[in-house]
Amino acid sequence: MSEDLQSLIEEWDGLGVVASHHRETGSWIFIALHDATLGRPTGGCRLRSYRSPAAGLRDAMRLAEGMTYKWAAMDFRYGGGKSVLAVPGPLEGSSRRSLFTRLGHVMNALNGGYGVGEDLGTTPEDMAFLATVTPYVAGVRDGEPVPDPGPFTAAGVHAGIAAAVAHLDCSPGLDGVSVLVQGVGDVGRPLAKLLGDSGAKVMASDIDAGRARAVARECGGTTVDRREVYETPCDVYAPCAVGATVNARTVRTLRCRIVAGSANNQLEVPEDAERLRRRGILYAPDYVVNGGGAMAFGLMERGIRDPGRLAERVRSIGRSLAEIFDEAESDGSSPVAAARKRALRALRQPAPPPPATGK
Ligand code: NAD
Repeated sequence: MSEDLQSLIEEWDGLGVVASHHRETGSWIFIALHDATLGRPTGGCRLRSYRSPAAGLRDAMRLAEGMTYKWAAMDFRYGGGKSVLAVPGPLEGSSRRSLFTRLGHVMNALNGGYGVGEDLGTTPEDMAFLATVTPYVAGVRDGEPVPDPGPFTAAGVHAGIAAAVAHLDCSPGLDGVSVLVQGVGDVGRPLAKLLGDSGAKVMASDIDAGRARAVARECGGTTVDRREVYETPCDVYAPCAVGATVNARTVRTLRCRIVAGSANNQLEVPEDAERLRRRGILYAPDYVVNGGGAMAFGLMERGIRDPGRLAERVRSIGRSLAEIFDEAESDGSSPVAAARKRALRALRQPAPPPPATGK
């Protein structure tokens, strides 16, 4: 083991890591298990190239820790885990399947100690294939297409936006509320539709201007040039494209009352949470408001597939956020700090231990 991998493991406060080298493709498989207090460590599988195996392991550890807080803040009984397939380059066909076969075998050896789903670089097809090797793939059932997480994530963001508006205006409903959706892809598009159906005034923006126009048409909204997003007056800015769009520069120019969207890592640095608070802009912590897809897949993995029940559970993200906003207000802190406190509280109330065998 190289010095670098060793020091990463020595310094980590998580439960442990599983590492496997897949000689055939020259890839590393890392499964990082951060915390199992609330239940089985569960999180997506990321496939990409890293500059070193240690960089892949570091990413797996960071993401697994994020999952611990994501599940806990949403009050959901899973633990924090994540896997990384650190590949030397693009991988297709039989070599890709061979790598996923190895991942499945490693997961079987853990006997349900880690539950997996899709993440950056992996596809529904990868998950369907992996499910032929191991039963611990969230949301996948024999012969059925793998569901798209985007609409579930969008439903959670919609509930989160409604909770934020209710917190500021003390009135339910989104009628007449203006929402600028930045990035109208897998999440942003269904979100725009839900918002339009709720009576909100949707403004769609995308680097693909044609896509923004199509989505605006679909939901009876308008478009905003991608270069004018941060200066455009709106009630809610919903970042649903890339991370770090909330930073020292944009916080100065934003003309919204609320930031709530699906993008991961919206804040460039943690201090941006406080910057938003000082400007009086209510921020829905990204890892709470964008948890709908993960939550739905976690529920499906437990056999809950009824769309009504799934939707109801995903809407509970709105209640979690309402509590986070209230707590932040009474503490005089940012919602990010309140979400962290809530997660730590949940982690002090462990779930009963899992059964000794099986799934
Ligand atoms: P996607 O690739 O389907 O859509 C992203 C959209 O944003 C595309 O239409 C793209 O053209 C546009 N875009 C990219 N860069 C842009 C920019 N700088 N300005 C404006 N538009 C831009 O991705 P997605 O699945 O909809 O995910 C969106 C975000 O939400 C990502 O940050 C993702 O990590 C996060 N997220 C997604 C899910 C999910 O269920 N898909 C779950 C949690 C978090």
